[in-house]
Amino acid sequence: MSTAAPSAQPASSQAASGKGLAAYCRGVTKHYGSGSNQVLALRGIDLEIPAGKLTMLVGPSGCGKTTLISVIAGILDRDAGECSVFGRDFSAMGQRERTRYRGENIGFVFQQFNLLPTLNAAENVAVPLMILGEGRAAAVAKGKEYLAQVGLGDRWKSLPSQLSGGQQQRVAIARALVHSPRLIVCDEPTSALDHETGGRVMALLKDVALKNDRALVIVTHDARIFSYADQIAKMDDGRVDQVITGSGITAEARGH
Ligand code: ADP
Ligand code: MG
Repeated sequence: MSTAAPSAQPASSQAASGKGLAAYCRGVTKHYGSGSNQVLALRGIDLEIPAGKLTMLVGPSGCGKTTLISVIAGILDRDAGECSVFGRDFSAMGQRERTRYRGENIGFVFQQFNLLPTLNAAENVAVPLMILGEGRAAAVAKGKEYLAQVGLGDRWKSLPSQLSGGQQQRVAIARALVHSPRLIVCDEPTSALDHETGGRVMALLKDVALKNDRALVIVTHDARIFSYADQIAKMDDGRVDQVITGSGITAEARGH
């Protein structure tokens, strides 16, 4: 992995101790399919995700961004390499433990939102709390609060089909935050939002991430939000080939 001057990161002292890191990957590989249909989606990923910071993952379509965050969040199994989230390795857990650990520690915003069509907006946001055992009334009340934070307080009764793409995206973001996870992973969270709403959502995400040393990972193509990042990991063809921090981010946001 090469690092960008002038704000290069120390190669890996944090990973060695694990201190201050929400997650890290070392040499992670992942393929799909078999035989002549095999696609090597991750070709040896090295990445450190610090707590209390916003890491953006950028790169061309098909370079492996969604696969990588799915491996980090324990949704997909890796083939090889090391990966740990708050010091724990999903591949060492049984299915039930994995589901519980993910439910308690990770909030995930899927690219396609994955809202449940028969539940209203507040109920959708409440799902992670109910999975963790919170009573329905309290969970839905908290769901409404989080909807208000993403500017949808008056739409809590709406079904996903009655909301625009951008509104559904904000419901998905509220759902990822409602149970106060320590790691929040978002796949293109501003893609369906206009500039102003995107800025509001980013400010909220960043505010939440910085509280209590949580970590935020955002996959994005959206150069308008680069300036919110603490580090930008650039991916290409299944690898992270550059990590940009500090003044390098300003240059990246300006388009070099
Ligand atoms: P990105 O999110 O950067 O667009 P992905 O992680 O979705 O990239 O995909 C990386 C590569 O893996 C691409 O070549 C894609 O076509 C392939 N891929 C992704 N998901 C699957 C799947 N379920 N089955 C087969 N190939 C897949
Ligand atoms: Mg993707």
